Amino acid sequence: VSDVLRGGASGVLRGVSSWQAEADVVVVGLGCAGACAALAAAARGARVLLLERSSAGGGTSALSGGLVYLGGGTPVQKACGFEDDPENMARYLLAACGPAPDEAKIRHYAEHSVEHFHWLSSCDVPFRASFHPGTGIEPPTDDGLIFSGSENAYPFCEIARPAPRGHCPARPGAAGGLLMERLIARIAVAPEVRVESDARAEALVVAEDGRIVGAAVRRAGETFCVRARRGLVLAAGGFIQNRAMVARHAPALLRCKIRIGCEGDDGSGILLGMAAGGAAMRLDAGSISLPFYPPEGLKRGILVNGAGQRFINEDAYYGRVGEQALLRQDGRAFLIVDEAVHERPMAGMEVAAVGESAQELEHELGLPAGSLQATLRLYNEHASRGEDPLFHKRGAYLKPLVDMPLGALDCTVDHAIYAAFTLGGLHTDLDGRVLDAADRPVPGLFAAGRTTSGLAAQGYSSGLSLADGSYFGRRAGAAAAAEVV
Ligand SMILES: Cc1cc2nc3c(=O)[nH]c(=O)nc-3n(C[C@H](O)[C@H](O)[C@H](O)COP(=O)(O)OP(=O)(O)OC[C@H]3O[C@@H](n4cnc5c(N)ncnc54)[C@H](O)[C@@H]3O)c2cc1C
Repeated sequence: VSDVLRGGASGVLRGVSSWQAEADVVVVGLGCAGACAALAAAARGARVLLLERSSAGGGTSALSGGLVYLGGGTPVQKACGFEDDPENMARYLLAACGPAPDEAKIRHYAEHSVEHFHWLSSCDVPFRASFHPGTGIEPPTDDGLIFSGSENAYPFCEIARPAPRGHCPARPGAAGGLLMERLIARIAVAPEVRVESDARAEALVVAEDGRIVGAAVRRAGETFCVRARRGLVLAAGGFIQNRAMVARHAPALLRCKIRIGCEGDDGSGILLGMAAGGAAMRLDAGSISLPFYPPEGLKRGILVNGAGQRFINEDAYYGRVGEQALLRQDGRAFLIVDEAVHERPMAGMEVAAVGESAQELEHELGLPAGSLQATLRLYNEHASRGEDPLFHKRGAYLKPLVDMPLGALDCTVDHAIYAAFTLGGLHTDLDGRVLDAADRPVPGLFAAGRTTSGLAAQGYSSGLSLADGSYFGRRAGAAAAAEVV
């Protein structure tokens, strides 16, 4: 075993006949996806061995904001007075999570989202039935519901009835820690689940018939093999911390100042699945946030690109804005504000230039002569009538920018905070089966969470990652436990 694994290479092992440990289902990674896979497999009566490379577990899930994208008419949505149903939720996700998101996963998730809410609640994850009016970021209060995407912004507000779906566990600020505390507490009292910490899966074991039957694990300088009698679930996170992999597959993300994820996000789960014959999908996709608000009032400014032109409605979710700014505008963007609109953004963007007129500001920014002047003239003319015929920003954020001086907050990728994590990963079906390039399952192999390509092909709304990780993690664990071998 050690020879094969020399250098820490991820891959496959054949011809293994002795095992140091055995379980019905082996789960790799104790984040939200792995925790939910383990709990679901145990609920099916399987003995589960959960391998976690760090000492504590929790993964990126525990560091996160904790927002879970749930909808279709959850009790929290209803109590807060928002109407939603599975078809409405699917319509939003199909439009927002593109291009070409996984329709089967989206429809299935929208259909079962209320059930998933109840399942999380049954694991003691608390969601308060109270709405917070801020958007995008987890609330500073313990309110349970926010708009966490662009549901109430153009064009999505015309495609589906706007409904907030960001469900936040009841802890002020980032609540991913609470979510994982509750899931790990469940695991601790599940006699069927054994957690091995400081245990890193480094290769998958393949039987002669091609079935995945276990993993080679590195712990305390030693390597040993564990057997998965029914199935093995890869839930080892994404690859944002693997610079070479990001450079190869998603190079635009390397330009982001902040690449968010724990050190386990090194792509090992994806590489293990690929080595076993699994196909990977959309490895170029990423969540890219440009948090130019809060404060919410900054949405009354206008975002312009390097040509001095607007490119988006500024009331869109800042994850959508970040994607558009980086991927479509080459990371060149300025938020133009006037004296009345100007506030310091929470994310601390610096003032790039100030001008007593649009012409002066345009000159200071090095924008083409006349460009910003024309943009502001057109914007102000319509905003004074409460209209935005170009990008359809909502009336509440429309105000002519006429109170001098004008300022430009620097939202260029070289200076502002762009925060990214990867969305691409292994190709899986609704039961978390890892599929090969011809859509055939790799026998015995399952995956969930950021090790897979999930609900968002791009077009991320906050909460989708914990949502598909936890939900499809459950399905992967249950399907692995149900395998008959
Ligand atoms: C600051 C921040 C805020 C965020 N906010 C939100 C939010 O509000 N809502 C949302 O949906 N998403 C959010 N995200 C993204 C989200 O947290 C992650 O995408 C999600 O938690 C991934 O879950 P996972 O189970 O796939 O992976 P993880 O939670 O990272 O779990 C993977 C686990 O596998 C372990 N592991 C890795 N490789 C191996 C190996 N070879 N062997 C054994 N173990 C291994 C890791 O140590 C880790 O514990 C946020 C991320 C950050 C950083």
